[in-house]
Amino acid sequence: MTTAVVVGSGPNGLAAALTLAAAGLQVRVIEAADELGGGIRSSELTLPGLVHDECSGMHPLVLCSAFAERFDLAGAGLTWRWAPAEFAHPLDDGRGGVAVRSVSETAAGLGKGGPGWQHTFGPLTERFGTISQEFLQPVLHIPRHPLHLARFGAYAGLPATLLARRFRTPEAQALFTGVAVHSFRPLDTLASSAIGVALTTAAHAFGWPVAEGGSAAIRDAILARAAEHGVQFETGRRVTSLDELGGPDLVMLDTSPAAAARIAGDRMPRHVHRAYLRYRHGPGAFKVDFAVEGGVPWAHEGSRSAGTVHLGGGVKEMAAAERDVAAGRMPARPFVLVGQQYLADKTRSAGDVHPLYAYAHVPAGFTGDATEAITARIEQFAPGFRDRIRATYVRSTTQMSRHNANYVAGDIVTGANDAWQLVFRPRPAPDPYATGVPGVSLCSAATPPGAGAHGMCGYNAAQRALARL
Ligand SMILES: Cc1cc2nc3c(=O)[nH]c(=O)nc-3n(C[C@H](O)[C@H](O)[C@H](O)COP(=O)(O)OP(=O)(O)OC[C@H]3O[C@@H](n4cnc5c(N)ncnc54)[C@H](O)[C@@H]3O)c2cc1C
Repeated sequence: MTTAVVVGSGPNGLAAALTLAAAGLQVRVIEAADELGGGIRSSELTLPGLVHDECSGMHPLVLCSAFAERFDLAGAGLTWRWAPAEFAHPLDDGRGGVAVRSVSETAAGLGKGGPGWQHTFGPLTERFGTISQEFLQPVLHIPRHPLHLARFGAYAGLPATLLARRFRTPEAQALFTGVAVHSFRPLDTLASSAIGVALTTAAHAFGWPVAEGGSAAIRDAILARAAEHGVQFETGRRVTSLDELGGPDLVMLDTSPAAAARIAGDRMPRHVHRAYLRYRHGPGAFKVDFAVEGGVPWAHEGSRSAGTVHLGGGVKEMAAAERDVAAGRMPARPFVLVGQQYLADKTRSAGDVHPLYAYAHVPAGFTGDATEAITARIEQFAPGFRDRIRATYVRSTTQMSRHNANYVAGDIVTGANDAWQLVFRPRPAPDPYATGVPGVSLCSAATPPGAGAHGMCGYNAAQRALARL
């Protein structure tokens, strides 16, 4: 029987394992941590009964993922839940912007910024089913819908600060820019709009759902499907060399490129080894989970019903903060993403005490403590927040990479999203998953289409590996 070993059990490792097992291979997954799931884990980090997502919280791209569709994760027990609004961006004095599922309703709430929003995201949303199929695979392919892709590319290729000008009002401009900041890169650089355009359109097309019971429910659904195909698992074992794996026909590495180079050692062609060591990582994230009594008292009404709230002030302030973190300087007022998953999923709270998820963008390997900066940012837009905190759980950049070796120096998106790496990740090659070692593939978020708990890197890598086999 053809055998495969998958190293790492993040969403991409699990997607690769399930895809190979469904093709009839005998598959074993080896995971360094004591618990399976990588970026799709949830725990009671603060108080008993409060479910916090340890890494990924919102899942805009899962509903259009060919992997989730093919393996019917909903049929394996996964239930998606949506907050009343998808995301919001408060400004001072209770002003702000809010995005709901409907483009026209969102545009109507954005005053003079509304027409630009409607004109940009209306047509993209209508075509998002086909556009997402294009960008959830390696960039270098023959597109099936070139015109749709061209429309998406025309916006995605712009600097975010430039595209934001289309939206006219400070509220609408900040609302878009807050999503563009998910790319973790300076906002005046080429293609810094790409992730913002994709995620904003996804919000209008599918919403930004959360998994009922926590993101670990996504893992559990994949594991249920994997059990149907006899996939075996081993936890608490860090793989350091291919020699440990017993010579399977296929190896899938759900690791960073540098870790893949170390694991493959001399067997990897030198040019691939060099390229993997040169692969660039982005800035870091510093995460604080709070237990909050009575929820967050946002001054901006729209933020009270949004699953995700972006805190960064206006476009200029966000651009300056992102420039700082990219240059290795900690900004006084960093960009902070707040997740209010409990608004969508009541099972995560204990009575009126709710789990709140927040992380700041910080320089790679930041060694300071950003807890106060995050708390102060929330307090800025929600006076009285501090008084409602009942417990906190902190994960610094160092702890982030100890928790998961793929998050090098706290880089939670497994690689800088600069224009080059958006197209050629992890290196320029006809098959971006191939490592140059026969039978060995890289399948982590360092490969196309990049970060997110959609499993598409693992799914694509497994399909290519099967084709080569
Ligand atoms: C704080 C945070 C917030 C995020 N928010 C979101 C979000 O809201 N939405 C979203 O879609 N994405 C989000 N992400 C990103 C998302 O979690 C990742 O992009 C995704 O998990 C990447 O999946 P992966 O399978 O490539 O790797 P990972 O999920 O990182 O998993 C890799 C696994 O491999 C294991 N491993 C590594 N090396 C070895 C080895 N040598 N031997 C054995 N095992 C090994 C690791 O322990 C880990 O379990 C977030 C991430 C973080 C940390």
